[in-house]
Amino acid sequence: MLSLSQRSEKVAPSSTLAITAKINTMQAEGIDIVKFAAGEPDFDTPEYIKDAAIESLRNGFTKYTPVPGITELREAIAEKFKKDNDLVFSPSQIIVSCGAKHSIYNILQAICNPGDEVVFAAPYWVSYPEIVKLADATPVIVETTADENFCMKPEQIESVISDRTKAVIISSPGNPTGTVYDAPTLAQIAELALNRQFYVISDEIYEALLYDNLKHQSIASLNETVREITFVVNGVSKAYSMTGWRIGYTAGPEKAIQAMSRIQSHSTSNPTSIAQIGALTALTESQEAVEEMRQAFEERRNVICQRFDEIDGITYAKPQGAFYIFPDVSAHYGRRIHGKTINGSLDMTAYLLDNARVGVIPGSASGADNHLRLSFATSLEEINSGLDRIKEALTY
Ligand SMILES: *Cc1c(COP(=O)(O)O)cnc(C)c1O
Repeated sequence: MLSLSQRSEKVAPSSTLAITAKINTMQAEGIDIVKFAAGEPDFDTPEYIKDAAIESLRNGFTKYTPVPGITELREAIAEKFKKDNDLVFSPSQIIVSCGAKHSIYNILQAICNPGDEVVFAAPYWVSYPEIVKLADATPVIVETTADENFCMKPEQIESVISDRTKAVIISSPGNPTGTVYDAPTLAQIAELALNRQFYVISDEIYEALLYDNLKHQSIASLNETVREITFVVNGVSKAYSMTGWRIGYTAGPEKAIQAMSRIQSHSTSNPTSIAQIGALTALTESQEAVEEMRQAFEERRNVICQRFDEIDGITYAKPQGAFYIFPDVSAHYGRRIHGKTINGSLDMTAYLLDNARVGVIPGSASGADNHLRLSFATSLEEINSGLDRIKEALTY
């Protein structure tokens, strides 16, 4: 066969997709599986959002739009930043892309040169290392632990900064850990970024899903100078249950946003016209549905934590946001359980799928092999029956 690009060969296939495929195959065979593998809300998109998109489709809103998104949507996003985050951006500092993943992809394409370094924490969202590599840059990973609530300490970031550091990515509330960075830590990271001159990429896709009365703080809102070196990434996927619509957005330094727009103009052009109408409706209509879903997630978080408390040999940091729990199951490693030796998160994932009929994601996909990721974007009934099964499988 003719050769493929080095770029394509250094990108790892998504290990979460492989597990999901196995779960789906087993389900298709009629096996009853409790799934905690989803990376998306289980709710349907609210009806009024669908209606607005359907109407725009019927009205013929089916053509190319401006590359960075329609003006009305960028104005609505600017308004959202002002209202929710105390951030003032003009529509020219905002670009809408095909999901927040695409936003991060475009940012790194716009700022990285070969050999540049991009710093982020492990456990990480599976796509960060690969999106960095696709920009010919090098991931620099800062290991964090449950004791520190999986937050990078500013000293840790400082110790890995080099001449080549181009950006740090902060995921708060985070996937896979539900971590939320507190304001003093954000301030210290911002100061470091300003002193040592690198960008901050603030992935705020789970902003709407915070628990225990926590309030979201964007690092960009600390002060004007921080805002000038920060890309704020957000979108409608997680807050409005709109993952399939593929609408994410970035606000940031105008020159960089223009560069992203040039890149986007030669790849996807604009985000889908009718999905932009859906996103516009989501951002501008009542936010009641978001709060209802948030409350459902908080209740589920409480239940899954209680249920994990009943299982020996599992510890976890209580998630403060998003819809994942990231328990440490390594106390069970090296042991023989029902005839199988568990030597890591992949073994544990396979064991739970085969023996307990429970689908989870191995921590190794996030660079943390001692852990599993369970999404609680599923019903209380499923959470309870799944945790019954896990408890039984790990009682031996
Ligand atoms: C889901 C997710 C995204 C991207 O979501 P899109 O559907 O592409 O908007 C970005 N970052 C994290 C941490 C996520 O979990």
